[in-house]
Amino acid sequence: MASLDDELGQALHQRQADHLYRQRRQLGSPQGARVILDGKAVLAFSSNDYLGLASHPDVVAAFKQAADRYGVGSGASHLICGHSREHHALEEELAAFTGRDRALTFSTGYMANLGIISALVGKGDLVLEDRLNHASLLDGGLLSGARIQRYLHSDTVSLAQRLELAGNRKLVVTDGVFSMDGDLAPLQDIAAVCRQHGAWLMVDDAHGFGVLGERGGGIAEDAGLDQQQLPILMGTLGKALGTSGAFVCGSATLIEYLIQFSRPYIYTTAMPPAVAAATRASLKLVQGESWRRELLQVLVTRFRAGAHQLGLQLMPSQTPIQPVMIGSDADCMAIGQQLWQHNIHVGTIRPPTVPNNTARLRITFNANHSEADVDTLLSALATAMATHAPH
Ligand code: PMP
Repeated sequence: MASLDDELGQALHQRQADHLYRQRRQLGSPQGARVILDGKAVLAFSSNDYLGLASHPDVVAAFKQAADRYGVGSGASHLICGHSREHHALEEELAAFTGRDRALTFSTGYMANLGIISALVGKGDLVLEDRLNHASLLDGGLLSGARIQRYLHSDTVSLAQRLELAGNRKLVVTDGVFSMDGDLAPLQDIAAVCRQHGAWLMVDDAHGFGVLGERGGGIAEDAGLDQQQLPILMGTLGKALGTSGAFVCGSATLIEYLIQFSRPYIYTTAMPPAVAAATRASLKLVQGESWRRELLQVLVTRFRAGAHQLGLQLMPSQTPIQPVMIGSDADCMAIGQQLWQHNIHVGTIRPPTVPNNTARLRITFNANHSEADVDTLLSALATAMATHAPH
């Protein structure tokens, strides 16, 4: 029998040969427009800290104050004695902000998706997922034991066809903003199809919450969908909100049901109370200060115009996620490396995170960037793409 290391080592060699090997760079600074990565000062277009709140003084101060009061660890799961006043107040504020009856916080978005889907459906039920959904949504479907069908990306005809299939309960699940593409799900149409077919609708608004909508309410605000039309709304706190964790909001019955039956909610330690307190501070900034969302739109418009002139292949995205399609994994890595040499960091996204032959630079903007930063990126992209023209 081959040893553990022999077998695993083979898989690692193969991944390297396929240009799919992942490496972690060490961050030595707060997130921002400029960061220290692997000891080097770079201009970064790679985080999900879209509003630049991860290091905002109000958010940091709220974290410190709560840590002084509550200590660091929550010490227990929510159902035992780890559910602090800060968690509870955050849930009430998220419910009020999203116009839902109640909200429930989870320790991470990944766990929220596992916890929501696996509690709501099971054997004999049907889960319908957009084929570009985030991995955590697919994993939630797998964990549930329900039958999973993937419909064509944002295609309501493909969705409706699959909704004809048998299933006791039918749950339709979609990203609001697609994480690796930046485009929006056609939510009003999807909600209408769900209504016609008696299906439940769940939206993961990880990349829209705080960014979309006049008040930052995310895709639900943008599409104007209330609790009736969009009964299961999930969002994360580690992206535009700049902290960590996630939430789901909806009817009081939905939330009470999840508290009773969602295993990834029940059997884990509550997030630190200081994280909840910091999130309350960032939620205030999201609601009270719209200039960050406006600046993001300016940056996105400037980038798209410049990238268009350079002949780069953009995606149909108006959000701060602005991928540049490359295609081959090797080219994508080479271009990423070239940008790194110019002291610029962008995400290089390859399979299995995205479909085969669609490797891309995942460029993201945040409210700490300036228009001059966008120009710097564009000129580095022009050089990098000229040297490594994709084939
Ligand atoms: N959903 C989507 C669409 C995501 O992009 C992510 C994070 N990459 C998650 C869920 C998971 O959230 P978290 O990082 O809080 O686990």
